[in-house]
Amino acid sequence: MFPGCLSIFCQDAIKFTSIRKVRQLCRIIPYNRSCCPVTYVFFNSETRHLSSTGSRHQQVGEDIEQSLTAEVWDIVVSGGGLVGSAMACVLGYSSVLLDKKILMLETGPPFSQKPLTEKYSNRVFALTPATRDLLNSFKAWDNICSVRLKPVKRMQVWEACSDATISFQHTGMLHDVAYIVENEVILGGVMEQLAKISDRVTVLNHAKVTEYVLPKQGGINEWVEIKLENGRKLKTKLLIGADGMRSLVRKTMNVNYTAWNYDQKAIVATLKLSEPTENNVAWQRFISTGPIALLPLSDDQSSLVWTATSELADQLMAMPEDNFVDALNSAIWDESKKNPIVEKTLGTLNSFLNTLWPGEGSVRQLPPNILSIDEGSRACFPLGLGHAAHYVAPRVALVGDAAHRIHPLAGQGVNLGFGDVQALAKLLVNSVYDGNDIGTLEPLLEYETERQRHIVPTMCVIDGLNRLYSTDLLPVVLLRSLGLHLTDTFRPIKERIISHASS
Ligand SMILES: Cc1cc2nc3c(=O)[nH]c(=O)nc-3n(C[C@H](O)[C@H](O)[C@H](O)COP(=O)(O)OP(=O)(O)OC[C@H]3O[C@@H](n4cnc5c(N)ncnc54)[C@H](O)[C@@H]3O)c2cc1C
Repeated sequence: MFPGCLSIFCQDAIKFTSIRKVRQLCRIIPYNRSCCPVTYVFFNSETRHLSSTGSRHQQVGEDIEQSLTAEVWDIVVSGGGLVGSAMACVLGYSSVLLDKKILMLETGPPFSQKPLTEKYSNRVFALTPATRDLLNSFKAWDNICSVRLKPVKRMQVWEACSDATISFQHTGMLHDVAYIVENEVILGGVMEQLAKISDRVTVLNHAKVTEYVLPKQGGINEWVEIKLENGRKLKTKLLIGADGMRSLVRKTMNVNYTAWNYDQKAIVATLKLSEPTENNVAWQRFISTGPIALLPLSDDQSSLVWTATSELADQLMAMPEDNFVDALNSAIWDESKKNPIVEKTLGTLNSFLNTLWPGEGSVRQLPPNILSIDEGSRACFPLGLGHAAHYVAPRVALVGDAAHRIHPLAGQGVNLGFGDVQALAKLLVNSVYDGNDIGTLEPLLEYETERQRHIVPTMCVIDGLNRLYSTDLLPVVLLRSLGLHLTDTFRPIKERIISHASS
């Protein structure tokens, strides 16, 4: 024994087989250094009680007992959806966090990749190049590419009340503007990488958290307590809430949460196109009941996200599949809402802009015709918006839908979540590298500021677009059509939009 140290004798070899666990307990040493000349604390495997010597050591014994009766982790990621599993992966692959014990908790069963079939899943995401780079940073992108994805070279957005169109593409369509990937394929790619670091990241499935106790100050020995449905208790120095839009972590943080439901639902389905083409364009048409998006999957298949008022969505879901396809084609092609005044004004603006900047502005392409939908592939999701006033608290951070939920019209939801992962991981790694405790509040606050500066404007624009296009009122149609057309003509503005959406 060394004077001035708290020494621990372990009679239960199993309890301390891992070096990490010993180191974890050793962190208690400085806590007591000043007041404890020599202290012996015995852990008895039979009675599971601690006994200590010395008059002021009762408190110390209680602290240790507390830390032993519950498992202690450095980082717990609660929620193993796309965002949570990517978070666990990025942290697990960081060389700076090699000695950290990381745990991911997920209510659902373990992920098992189903054999690939011709049939595409109806849950697909448009991933941005920034998300690709994040997934590439821990090699999950290679796994995704080896299964399947569809690169998008161009996006075309137009509306029902005028010919105003905007398109996004890189010069000569050399670079991809997005990637359409199935949910299962992304999750499979990430989980494959997680499995390779199972010594660093533990994944616990069927692990539903029922209670969190958060520390008030987050001091050196004040950790987050977690209770699982099966009664198991855990502690962590940093809790990352990736538990989706109904986040229990967020509720426990008791932060203000601004939320509303749109009176809209999104219908997803897998579509068969009338004829095979290169099919590398993502299409979106705004109609007053909500936008319709066609996302390419293969030469002759696309994925549908059709936003409609709740009433219309229910009717569309109840239709036989053939009638649904007819309704879809008519919603994509219908010209009856076009307003001649708007068309004339747009034509005049177009000729004027053409004389000033000939060749700028998009050439409008025609969208594909839909032949049929994959049997039983229709599913419907109610839509809403939600935003937490704070993403962090002492020893807690929220990521993904737990912090912010947005309308899917710009395909940004999970991309924003991956952006959170990237930002939080970077700040945590830097903080630990500087010698700070993993739950230090400062980098968490920096994370909150950085992300809210990006996310709040994005949410406002997306919510605004949804409202702007939900009316057929002539002045509004005129203004938005002119605005869209002007934006389409000025390349620097479009480049700024692409760069914001991709970051
Ligand atoms: C129709 C539609 C289309 C969309 N399209 C796109 C798109 O093209 N691009 C895009 O970027 N986004 C899109 N989104 C948004 C995207 O779906 C979400 O932003 C994303 O799925 C959120 O991921 P997440 O991991 O944060 O949350 P979730 O996917 O909700 O995952 C949360 C996880 O936490 C687990 N969990 C919850 N509570 C507990 C608990 N108490 N204990 C343990 N585990 C728990 C859950 O089981 C779940 O696995 C779309 C959304 C909709 C509705």
